[in-house]
Formats: sequence, structure tokens, C-alpha cells
Amino acid sequence: MHDYAEEIIALVEAKNPAEPEFHQAVREVVESTSRVIERHPEYRAAKIMERMVEPERVIIFRVPWVDDQGGIQINRGFRIQMNSAIGPFKGGLRFHPSVNLGILKFLAFEQVFKNALTTLPMGGGKGGSDFDPKGKSDGEVMRFCQSFMCELYRHIGADTDVPAGDIGVGGREIGYLFGMYKRLKGEFTGVLTGKGLNWGGSLIRPEATGYGCVYFASEMLATRADTLAGKKCLISGSGNVAQYALQKIIELGGIPVSVSDSSGFIYDEAGIDPEKLACIMDLKNVRRGRIKEYVEEHPSAVYEPCEQTGEGSPQWNLKADCAFPCATQNEITETDARNLIKNGVYLVAEGANMPTTPAGVDVFLDAGILYAPGKAANAGGVATSGLEMSQDSMRLSWPREEVDSRLRHIMKNIHQACVDSAAAYGTPGNYVNGANIAGFLKVANAMMDQGLV
Ligand code: NDP
Repeated sequence: MHDYAEEIIALVEAKNPAEPEFHQAVREVVESTSRVIERHPEYRAAKIMERMVEPERVIIFRVPWVDDQGGIQINRGFRIQMNSAIGPFKGGLRFHPSVNLGILKFLAFEQVFKNALTTLPMGGGKGGSDFDPKGKSDGEVMRFCQSFMCELYRHIGADTDVPAGDIGVGGREIGYLFGMYKRLKGEFTGVLTGKGLNWGGSLIRPEATGYGCVYFASEMLATRADTLAGKKCLISGSGNVAQYALQKIIELGGIPVSVSDSSGFIYDEAGIDPEKLACIMDLKNVRRGRIKEYVEEHPSAVYEPCEQTGEGSPQWNLKADCAFPCATQNEITETDARNLIKNGVYLVAEGANMPTTPAGVDVFLDAGILYAPGKAANAGGVATSGLEMSQDSMRLSWPREEVDSRLRHIMKNIHQACVDSAAAYGTPGNYVNGANIAGFLKVANAMMDQGLV
């Protein structure tokens, strides 16, 4: 079976050169699911994995727009429609200068298994652009979003493909995108999630990824009769996922001591309380400033750049109990993983997608800590997007408590599915295998049922 896994990986590397993140994501799933293929040769005969690694459709397009100086700007837009076996394509849009085809294929591939774990009927997709919203005026962001949608609208729809936000795409961007879609199509449908509350959005959607990640962490702790109360927590990122992970950690009695952005991190030994979190939210969501400004308002905290050196990033070399990486892919290296364990961290729950390198994941698994991969731990975001789609279809909106309770229930179920699948395939406690296997089985069985399409 090892040979079969290597065959698939070699095929993906040959057909998708220079896409290391996509190769990384495929390798992890193929390695986990080789246990399933061994027991069920019918999936191999039907070439299910070969089909899963090939997107159903990839759309690449030009996005021209005019900046505030009247200059012409050209960006590249993408949508990867990866797999629609269990529902319409679903997955976020990322606006960040690092965006390229390989990164979006990794994210779309991860999304397929994550969405399957949510128990809701959603296929997997991802999209975005190399546009950098940082430093752009609202007018520039609006003109970019409008131009982006002028092409994307042909390929999406409430029953076809339903994008959402991701890095660089929050409520402001979803608003501009939705406005243009509505104008072009002349219809008001649930074509995007993460919408404003007044126009089809769901309560709890902004909070969902961060809250869900912390609910998942609590479920993991419960397997050891433990809770978050009194635990020191390291958090990376200071965007949407990080902010609401922080909020839920505080609510459950944990003590968040660090947050970061792409320039550096702050360490606040006294703990980030609700008042300090409000300051971070204002800094990031309203003033759109840098995290180092936190120290100006809270001089007892310290700021340091997050540079990776031979000794790892100082951000992950701090005494703590739990870590919640909520920024971006491959932010925890093997050295960082070793530093985390050395400093006492025994739970890592990934709010971001694939934030730990494969060698870092091996360190966590070998150490036997509670380690939840992003596709399980951050699935609360897309799950609540699924709930937003249901509310849009029914033309009604559920109260906050109802959405939150559904989210909590979904995270509990995902946790249980991971635990059960990991045990059923001989690797109890391994949430990586558990998540990959549970997600794979749902999608694979739907593909088997639907024939060769
Ligand atoms: P935001 O854009 O709101 O925040 C991203 C944060 O990560 C910012 O603090 C940003 O810093 C930092 N960051 C971004 N890129 C880098 C980088 N290359 N190096 C270091 N720091 C970086 O995005 P989200 O909070 O929505 O997303 C964070 C992660 O969570 C991503 O991996 C995303 O795919 C994942 N995710 C998000 C979901 C959602 O619902 N939003 C759902 C599931 C997963 P700066 O401001 O300096 O750029």
C-alpha cells in the first residue's frame, strides 16, 4: 500500500509542478487514507484518490482595476472547483499577495475533507487573488472586488458554488462582492456566505471559526478530564479567526498571552482580557493598524518581530499550556514544534489551514500531545456558512443561541468522528488520521454512488 500512496504522490508532483503546498496537503491525506484503501480495494479500483486530486474545474482570470491615483492595476483571480460529490462547491476567497494556483489547490483540497466532516451537504472549493488589501482605500478595495466579481459571477450560484471569506476577505469585501453579483445577475440569493446581518448573513458566522476551534480544543481536553480554565494560551494571527478564538478562550477561563500579525507578535504575560481584546479588534478591524501598536496602549506587554531563525520563531518559544495557530500555512516548523513541547504545550488546535509543517506534525504526534489539524479544528467556520445557506434558503434567520448551539454540536460530532475513525483504523488518538479518514469516506462513497463523472 505504501507503493500505491507513493504512486499517487508522484503523479500529483509530476502533474502539478512547483506547487509544494498542494503536494504537502495531498501527501498527508494519501498517507492517512492508505489504511482505508488497504481494507477497501474497491476505492483503488475506482481510482477515487486519482479523481480527488484532480480539480473538477479551475478558473483563472484577469482582474483589471483603477487605483486612487488613476493608475491601472492588474491582478490575477482564481476559483478552484475541487469536488462537488456531496454538495455545491464551498470554500473561501483569499486576497493576499502570496496567493497562487498551488496555494489555492491545497486549500481547496483540504476544504473537501473539512466540509465532509461538518455533516452538512457541501463540496469543496477555494479561490482568491494576489491582490493585497493592505494599505488600500475602501474605494480601491470596492473597485477591485467589483472587477473580480465581473468574471466570477458566471461560475458561482447558490446551488453551484458558494464562496466565503478567508485571509484578506472579511465583511467589507463580501459586501462589495455581493453587491456586484446582485447587480449582474439581478437576483438576491445566498451566493456568498459571511454576509452582513441585514442582508442574509447569519449570527455567529464571524465568530464561528475561532469559537469552533476552541470548542474542539475543549472536547480534546475533556478526553483527559481537563478544561481550558487557567491554561496559558499562545495565539498567532490577529485577524478574524484569532480574535474570536481569543474571545472564547477568555470566556472559558483560559489566559491568552500572545497574538501576532505578519510583522511580529506581542506577549502580554498578565493575559489579554476582554478590554484588551476590544482594543485589538479596534486596531485590526477599524484602524487597520499593526499589532505592535498594542504595546503603546499596554506598555507591560512586549513586542518582537516573528523572524524564523535556526532556533525557530520566538513566538512559539514561550511558556504555555496550549497553542492556537490562527494565521497562515506552515507557520510552525519542526523546531517550533519542539520548542512548544519543551515549554510545556500539550494541546495544539489549528485555527489556520495547515499551519504546521509535516515535520512539525510528526513532532506533535510522536510526543502524544492533543493535536487537532485545521481541517477538523477550524471546520466551524464553514459549518456555520452551511447554516447560513440553510437560513437563506428558508428565508429566515435563527437566533444567536440556536446557531451557537448547532455549532457546538457540530464541533462535538466532528471530534467524535475523528476519535472513532482514528480508532477504527488502528491509530487511536491520532486526530490527523481520524479527520482524513472520516472526511475521505463520506466523499469517496458519494463518488462511488454517482459513477464516473
Ligand atoms: P484574516 O485576514 O482576518 O487574518 C489573518 C491573520 O494572519 C492576520 O493577523 C495576518 O497578519 C496573519 N497572516 C496572514 N498571512 C500571514 C503570513 N504569511 N505570515 C504571518 N502572518 C500572516 O484571516 P482569517 O483570520 O480569516 O484566516 C486565518 C487563517 O484561518 C487562514 O489560514 C485561513 O485559511 C484560516 N481559516 C479561516 C476561516 C474563516 O472563517 N475566516 C475558516 C477556516 C480557516 P497581517 O495583518 O499582517 O497580514
